[in-house]
Amino acid sequence: MFVVLLLVSSTIMFMFALIFTIESIREKEPRSPMFGAAGIAFSVILIISIIFIPVLRIPVAVFFGLGGIFVLVVLIPGKPYARAMKGAMGHVIGNAKRFDERDVVFARLRLANEGSADQKECYKHYYKEMHPEREEADVIRREKGMLGKNGGGAIDNSYPPNISMLHSAFDIPDLLGPHTTAEPQPDEKPMKMDSAKSTEIAKNYAKHIGADLVGICKVNPLWIYSHRGEIHFDNWDDWGKELTDFPPYALVMCTEMNWEHVSSAPHTPAVAESANNYAKGAYLSISMARWFAHMGYQGVAQNTRRYDAILSPLAVDAGLGEVGRNGYLIAPKFGTRVRVFATLTDMPLIPDKPISIGADEFCRKCKKCAESCPSKSIPLDDKVVHNGVKKWKLNEESCFEYWSKVGTDCSVCMAICPFARPDTFSHRIVRRLMARSPVARALFPYMDNVLYGKKWRPRKVSSWLDWSNGSKTKKESY
Ligand code: SF4
Ligand code: SF4
Repeated sequence: MFVVLLLVSSTIMFMFALIFTIESIREKEPRSPMFGAAGIAFSVILIISIIFIPVLRIPVAVFFGLGGIFVLVVLIPGKPYARAMKGAMGHVIGNAKRFDERDVVFARLRLANEGSADQKECYKHYYKEMHPEREEADVIRREKGMLGKNGGGAIDNSYPPNISMLHSAFDIPDLLGPHTTAEPQPDEKPMKMDSAKSTEIAKNYAKHIGADLVGICKVNPLWIYSHRGEIHFDNWDDWGKELTDFPPYALVMCTEMNWEHVSSAPHTPAVAESANNYAKGAYLSISMARWFAHMGYQGVAQNTRRYDAILSPLAVDAGLGEVGRNGYLIAPKFGTRVRVFATLTDMPLIPDKPISIGADEFCRKCKKCAESCPSKSIPLDDKVVHNGVKKWKLNEESCFEYWSKVGTDCSVCMAICPFARPDTFSHRIVRRLMARSPVARALFPYMDNVLYGKKWRPRKVSSWLDWSNGSKTKKESY
């Protein structure tokens, strides 16, 4: 019986090591397959020792005993993080004010001193009356271009196939962009339905048409921009308009970004995948807006061509995850590897509850994104209180400048995040443990460094996506 128990334990260990190795190889990880292979070899040695060297059975039993204690300790559940359970308001500790979209770095860079008289007037208002101290630096950033010159992708010599993927995908929100608001016909009465039923239909329909995660929240006015600042369709008369009237509910959706594309960050496959998801988000948010309108309610799509709201706190309130040190939403299944979209509506819906997945606590120790960020835009220090919200405050300007330099949206901080790894057997176990166990959250950041390395190295991609037959990635480290 004793020997059988030892053999079963060794076989379980062997199976785990085998699965981990296969998954690591599939993910093209540079280090972890070696650890997996070492685990396989070690378990085979244990099995042979148990069968043929009886004297080693006691030490092997002690080894498994200690391993069992470790597993039990890691399985002890802790309390969910109280701030996370309160949603985005859990992080508001001061007198928070609504954020002005005119201050968003993208909005500022679209505000060139050119074009229509309206645009020039807006420029004058912002840089002469509101923020004269920002003009000089913004002029330089604007000259460098949002993704650099030549259409972007400087890091890969603007490799045409990938850069064309980026632009063709962004054509979709541009085409759909003017149709973000959907209103019912004047003679159309709102369809009366039990809100549990309409919630069930809305969420499932959003998933059916392509959303990977869906949640619902009541719209907290604090997360609505105070004034409009991003102008995409020459509608400069909208610039600076106060946003006062907005629907009370948000259907928040996430799309999963493909791991292989993201793992090439900061190269062009990553930005092509971001664009691909913005295209999906435009389709999803506008389709849902129109569905609400056909049901007799208002629908206002939130995607890259129109944001009334800041979407990360809405996603947190809708129970889709927590916000990490790198400022991205960390969702349970996909981690940072998601893009967030929403549709605001007045259809009565039942909100979801915020969740705690252990991300906040994990981020305090992890810091991988901050250490690998090429522009040092992510703080290594503790959170600060910014506008009444306790958060890790990113330097959006320096991040943006790096985007101009490489001609992509970088995404290194998304790719390196341990939560971003594919939703496979081994990563799923780790995510579940991180969500429930304080010991796992304390230990796993260090284990992650050992298994996957501390610094980011872009992974090799499939040949159809490769900009340089993979040769360049070998030398890179962030
Ligand atoms: S996108 Fe790149 S430059 Fe920007 S914060 Fe993330 S790692 Fe840093
Ligand atoms: S890389 Fe680490 S610190 Fe950064 S967001 Fe992910 S878990 Fe948090």
